[in-house]
Amino acid sequence: MMQRETLLNWCQENLQAAQFKDYAPNGLQVEGEKQIEKIITSVTASLAAIEFAIAQKAQMLLVHHGLFWKSEPIVITGWKKQRIAKLLANEINLVAYHLPLDAHPKWGNNAQLAEKMGWQCIEQIGEQNLLNIGTLPEQQTLSLLANQLETVLQRKPIVVGNFSGSLKKIAWCTGGAQSFFQQAIDAGVDAFITGEISEAQYHLANETGVAFISAGHHATERFGIQTLGEQLTKEFSLTHQFFDENNPV
Ligand SMILES: [Zn+2]
Repeated sequence: MMQRETLLNWCQENLQAAQFKDYAPNGLQVEGEKQIEKIITSVTASLAAIEFAIAQKAQMLLVHHGLFWKSEPIVITGWKKQRIAKLLANEINLVAYHLPLDAHPKWGNNAQLAEKMGWQCIEQIGEQNLLNIGTLPEQQTLSLLANQLETVLQRKPIVVGNFSGSLKKIAWCTGGAQSFFQQAIDAGVDAFITGEISEAQYHLANETGVAFISAGHHATERFGIQTLGEQLTKEFSLTHQFFDENNPV
């Protein structure tokens, strides 16, 4: 059993949350019980994740994608009302860490994807250092890299571009970072890996010779929040369970 504030302070400090300019509030988003015994982690605070947390009698739902984004209407209606009503009725704390969790050098989504894939990060550039430049553990072709991603992420990636030969330098950023592609091209990499692709990147990949791999927004961001949950169980006396969803995007 743990005090919520102790947990929040620990996360805030270890994730250096105050240092990020984010478009969502990091930390406590919806207040629930003061004492925490069981935490459910999930990529997104979906209705399914909230219902799972209720069924598991958890006091906290810890996510990467919370409920409040700058681009969204600020009223609480429809699906948002439904989610918030369930959280409040069941005294479940909703806690979210967005960019601080992408960027954390050990537990973050970018670092965890690199660890699972065996990539070595040599440089972090771009907006809030979210674009990682690095190397592969061994000589790899584009199709071998795509196969390895499929094995690690359990999802078939979309691969565009005509890069042939062995990949020397790659760039990656988990989630919806397709807009970083130009920066990756400018950094002189052979391939860029992120979670989502838009129409324009298909042409850029073909015209520049830099391959684009879209490996899934959900799939590339599963590891950070799980790792944070595991860290919390090492640090404090509580239990943790990860809730996964079969999100193809
Ligand atoms: Zn994301």
